[in-house]
Amino acid sequence: MRYLIDKLSRENNLSQEELELLLGNLSCEDRDYLIEKAYEVRKKHYGDTVFFRGLIEISNICKCDCFYCGIRASNKKANRYRLSQDEILECCHRGYSLGYRTFVFQGGEDSYFSDEILESIIKTLKSEYSDIAITLSLGERGEESFERLYRAGADRYLLRHETVNEELYTKLHPKMSLENRKKCLESLKSIGYQVGSGFLIGLPGLKLVDYAKDLVFLKNLRPHMVGIGPFIPHEDTPLKDEKGGTAYDTITLLAIIRLLLPDVLLPATTALGTIDPKGREKGFKAGANVIMPNLSPMECRKKYALYNGKVFLGKESAEEKLKIENGILEAGFQPILTRGDNIRWKRK
Ligand code: SAH
Repeated sequence: MRYLIDKLSRENNLSQEELELLLGNLSCEDRDYLIEKAYEVRKKHYGDTVFFRGLIEISNICKCDCFYCGIRASNKKANRYRLSQDEILECCHRGYSLGYRTFVFQGGEDSYFSDEILESIIKTLKSEYSDIAITLSLGERGEESFERLYRAGADRYLLRHETVNEELYTKLHPKMSLENRKKCLESLKSIGYQVGSGFLIGLPGLKLVDYAKDLVFLKNLRPHMVGIGPFIPHEDTPLKDEKGGTAYDTITLLAIIRLLLPDVLLPATTALGTIDPKGREKGFKAGANVIMPNLSPMECRKKYALYNGKVFLGKESAEEKLKIENGILEAGFQPILTRGDNIRWKRK
């Protein structure tokens, strides 16, 4: 295994077979060695910095019916909401005064957010502030829509591929296709966005070979950002009785991703912090370098429940930021609030 880890560190690549072998045979000591190597690489490219992104959950109304997701269309128990343009702008103003310079708009696939409405929000913010980045995480849209939003000033787009296991993808995403997901990622890349993709860990039925394939997919896509996290069951979904992913596996995969894509922006996700109180700090030590604290209005946070038990639900943005900053400093890392683009990206 040491041989494979050294090869991965040296060449930033392994074949699918080698990745599967590595995932299936890592002893605890090997895994510590892997994490050390990933830490060296994150240090080389980004030092000890952790970039902050302010997350604004703009709507939990969604036409999709993803089996794992708490805001899926068929969940009749979900208490639906949608932020108005003014509310979104207000969240950004508050975030800006707290020091945030990246705002991430995430939400369900809510047709209310037309190109016109999003353009108006993006243009307003970009004219008010010259030093911010805007990230969208609003699911699949047409190429023309992606293009318009990029021209309006959006800088980044997060769209996890969720899993490259086509059979499982089709089962878990009614009326959606992996092919279209991949097509969206290619469009986003060719338009010029900083693109983020990623997958869920611990979805029922996944095997090691699937993660090996997810990793090869990411390596070939060369995204600027990668978001991975454990699947956590939500009580009002068909997967409510499933087991979910572990922090241990998530952290191992974070380390491998850091070595495969040395300059990638890699969040330690809220889902990881939810299943392990020290999960995000462990993630930073394994190569993660981004955190996305919540800037959504307090009364909406409980409603944006993708999974059970989300951390920091009750904390005000300022209080949450302080707590997270302290945790990061204590773990030996440096919180950074600048827009923090991927080092190989320039706007087209
Ligand atoms: N509609 C947008 C945003 C989805 S929410 C889109 O399609 O991209 C962002 C991410 O949350 C999803 O990509 C998914 O990977 C993750 N997620 C959804 N349900 C989850 C669950 N039960 N456990 C962990 N992560 C989940």
